[in-house]
Amino acid sequence: MKYKLYPSSMTADPYAWIEQSLATIQRADWYRSVQTLSDRPGATVVLAGREVINFASNDYLGLAGDERLIKAAIAAISEFGTGSTGSRLLSGHRELHRELEMAIASLKQTEDAIVFSSGYLANLGAIAAVVGKRDLILSDQYNHSSLKNGAILSGAAVIEYPHCDVVALKTQLRQQRQNYRRCLIITDSVFSMDGDLCPLLTLLEIAEEFNCMLLVDEAHATGVIGKTGAGCVEHFGCTGKQLIQIGTLSKALGSLGGYVAGSANLIDFLRNRAPTWIYTTGLSPADTAAALTAIGIVQQEPQRRMQLWRNVDYLKHLMQQHLPNLKLLPTASPILCFQLPSPADALLVSQHLKDAGIFAPAIRPPTVPTSRIRISVMATHEAEHIEELVAVLRNTN
Ligand SMILES: *Cc1c(COP(=O)(O)O)cnc(C)c1O
Repeated sequence: MKYKLYPSSMTADPYAWIEQSLATIQRADWYRSVQTLSDRPGATVVLAGREVINFASNDYLGLAGDERLIKAAIAAISEFGTGSTGSRLLSGHRELHRELEMAIASLKQTEDAIVFSSGYLANLGAIAAVVGKRDLILSDQYNHSSLKNGAILSGAAVIEYPHCDVVALKTQLRQQRQNYRRCLIITDSVFSMDGDLCPLLTLLEIAEEFNCMLLVDEAHATGVIGKTGAGCVEHFGCTGKQLIQIGTLSKALGSLGGYVAGSANLIDFLRNRAPTWIYTTGLSPADTAAALTAIGIVQQEPQRRMQLWRNVDYLKHLMQQHLPNLKLLPTASPILCFQLPSPADALLVSQHLKDAGIFAPAIRPPTVPTSRIRISVMATHEAEHIEELVAVLRNTN
């Protein structure tokens, strides 16, 4: 008789494993649940009926609650309704969609751009479109989930290289490049759960040397980094280089949606080949109008970005002065993380912060290898908000 690998597979409740899995997640202190906010998003939010200072959002410029975005969204709904009714290829789109894409291309100084329904879908669609079974992807170990899953979806061979380790990346390329047709290097530009930047200039050199495409995800950099807020590509002086630039409309731009910016050919190709663009409903009129307004503000009000960086510097300064023992991870962005020994410790500190009026999430495995508290600074934080955070952290340690 054949040995049965799973003896109970034909008799047990087929859903029973879910409860067991949840129990395992809970035992590891990995269990997550959602917290309900009331009121508009901003530097302070109302959490469970109580006002707390918000260090948990990606709304770096404070635009998600901005009156101008709200007005633009309402006007778009009044004119075009609430839904986009279908895929843009099948059901048509609005002038607004193209205006937004042209605005993104103008911010990024690329030939064209294409808007997806989220940043996650932009990554899945772009990666799956540009590489396939005969190709190779090299992926930074700390990349966002959407890049990792895009790589899996593409069917290409995937090699993860150690975080920002360009020597290891080169070694892999030397050994592997000739075995594949096309090659794509994928990386976050600002690493979302760490706050450090990718070595973009070296990555571009390596991409050129080994005839690879390079895809950078500017989700946390757009509106935040670079002289005009165009992102790390601008910050590192790489504007105009051949690149696949991805980003989101839902962080500093305060709306919802994602995009790819690049050459006219690349964007035209994606309109024909990116499944997560072709087979899903177009961005809603409200989200489109809000994002378009946000890009205008990013371009016309650099003082917001300057205030954000003053706030980041102020927080770093206070931390150095008053919290010398905090294990801050290397950062060059408004994301500041400090490490804790275990998921349970991270949860405890996060709860303590919340009790003291500070909203900052514990980030735990499997999102990251080591547990931490993640603080993200906003342009609309006031000096007192930042001072209060430091005062509370002093009491915690
Ligand atoms: C948030 C994020 C995304 C996903 O963007 P959404 O628009 O929220 O889907 C993609 N990549 C990175 C690096 C992110 O931080």
